Amino acid sequence: MSGKFLYVADIVENTIVDGIGFRTSLYLSGCDIGCEGCHNKELWDINSGHAMEIDEVFEKITGSFTNITFIGGEPMMQAEPLTVLAEKIKAYTRKDIWIYSGHTYEEILHNKEYSKLLKLCDVLVDGKFYKSYFQNNLRFKGSTNQRIIDVKKSLDKNKIVLWSDESDFNI
Ligand code: SF4
Repeated sequence: MSGKFLYVADIVENTIVDGIGFRTSLYLSGCDIGCEGCHNKELWDINSGHAMEIDEVFEKITGSFTNITFIGGEPMMQAEPLTVLAEKIKAYTRKDIWIYSGHTYEEILHNKEYSKLLKLCDVLVDGKFYKSYFQNNLRFKGSTNQRIIDVKKSLDKNKIVLWSDESDFNI
């Protein structure tokens, strides 16, 4: 998916469930992964969202004090326009960016387009949702296989470093 448009299912402001602190969550439509038991099946079709210009999305999601989360759906399906958006967020604001993906960190790094987007993000919640690994007390994720990864530290150390502010929670 390319171009200056993003296919957006929803923008949720002041949420505390998609990452640390108050965040604005950008729900991207489209998912080509198809996890069994997915709670967002209605987002699998990219056309279930509506096309918004990148600049319009930028204005909507950066208007308040909150940080940003890219979620879906599968954000990597729109990696190219999301990269343009993330570059703008990093250039003009001090907001951090969390991104959710059904792809693993390793898979993302092996894809040129996906890794370009990842490198602009601060935290990645990675991996498919597995019903058999579901626990309802997990913080910021749905199944125990998923990892909450500190992207910058992981890239610096060339190995996965889990995001750290979660010692009191299951990860
Ligand atoms: S990656 Fe996310 S949106 Fe896609 S099928 Fe899996 S849980 Fe659902």
